[in-house]
Amino acid sequence: MKNSSKDVLKKLEEWQREEAFSSSFLESYKALLSIQAWADERVKIQAPDLGRRAVKRRLANGAPLLKFDEFKIDWPLANEVFKKVVALFSASPELMGEVPAIFSEPDFKLQKRMVRGWYNGAGLPDDITGGDIENNVLKAIIHAALKPFLTAYAQALIGMVEAGYWRRGYCPICGGTPDISFIEEEVGERWLMCSRCDTQWHFQRLECPNCGNQDQKSLSYFSDDTEIYRLYVCDKCHTYLKTIDLKKAKGASLPVERLLTFDMDVQGQQKGYKPLSSATI
Ligand SMILES: [Zn+2]
Ligand SMILES: [Zn+2]
Repeated sequence: MKNSSKDVLKKLEEWQREEAFSSSFLESYKALLSIQAWADERVKIQAPDLGRRAVKRRLANGAPLLKFDEFKIDWPLANEVFKKVVALFSASPELMGEVPAIFSEPDFKLQKRMVRGWYNGAGLPDDITGGDIENNVLKAIIHAALKPFLTAYAQALIGMVEAGYWRRGYCPICGGTPDISFIEEEVGERWLMCSRCDTQWHFQRLECPNCGNQDQKSLSYFSDDTEIYRLYVCDKCHTYLKTIDLKKAKGASLPVERLLTFDMDVQGQQKGYKPLSSATI
């Protein structure tokens, strides 16, 4: 299922017209999608030439297909996107909060060591974060700037992952965590979607993707009367994952739903749970 930023932007605009809804948050988010759509048109990638055996070995070992050193980034383009994202986030604190001053310095550039730390989940270097390793604004900006590159790789590589083979709690392509899941309409299987590259993959219905908990006593969900939207929570690791039932919401676009369900994020956090994914944009 291909969902380019341009498609998501179009669907969001249709939804807005139908609902006659507007908010500054949504307008800022649309501006971000426009930047990413601009980048999508310019990104050219060279997917790693992985043989079938290497693919099998990586997946069998639980290793995502795209290693950081194979994730080749066009740095001048990435920095152009980065500057646009920083300018947007700086003008729209409602998106993620205040942008740290270091990112707005005229000479500041995305660097490989920063992106490596973010990609591998090791965190950003101390001299960038000022010691604040939980700085979600920094991560969200890097994420937003690199998403067009990562989704291009994901589209090139996903065909190598046999459907149903990978059933882990993180993305088979980039190793990112899911930020939304869905129950598909045919047989009711559960799929997760990567917060970073939008890859979708199968997952067990009754298991926490974060800690692997399968104890039904500590897994539950909250939902409204329609049961279309569910907030799956795990009382072992205290995380939540938004889930949409596509049997009841046919044709829904997940990248759009991810955005339109922010009230569920608020609900989850009010109930004392953390988002399973630390990257929300
Ligand atoms: Zn991914
Ligand atoms: Zn858990």
